[in-house]
Amino acid sequence: MIPPLLTEEVMPTYVYRCGDCEQTIEAMQRFSDRPLRKHKECGGSLTKVVQAAGVVFKGSGYYSTDSRTPDTASDS
Ligand SMILES: [Zn+2]
Repeated sequence: MIPPLLTEEVMPTYVYRCGDCEQTIEAMQRFSDRPLRKHKECGGSLTKVVQAAGVVFKGSGYYSTDSRTPDTASDS
């Protein structure tokens, strides 16, 4: 039996940063898709943010490399 996960196409999430408004956006793209160039909201130019592996896979654990540390297990 093949686990359902392997039968689905993996959709990697790329992270882009807008050089204009400095907003960080995530875009789900296939490997064959062309990279985004333009920020839809402001028209600024996007730069791909390279993560640890270049790609962030949703669902395979939450990443928190560049973001603020979330609440560290606080048992109050
Ligand atoms: Zn922008």
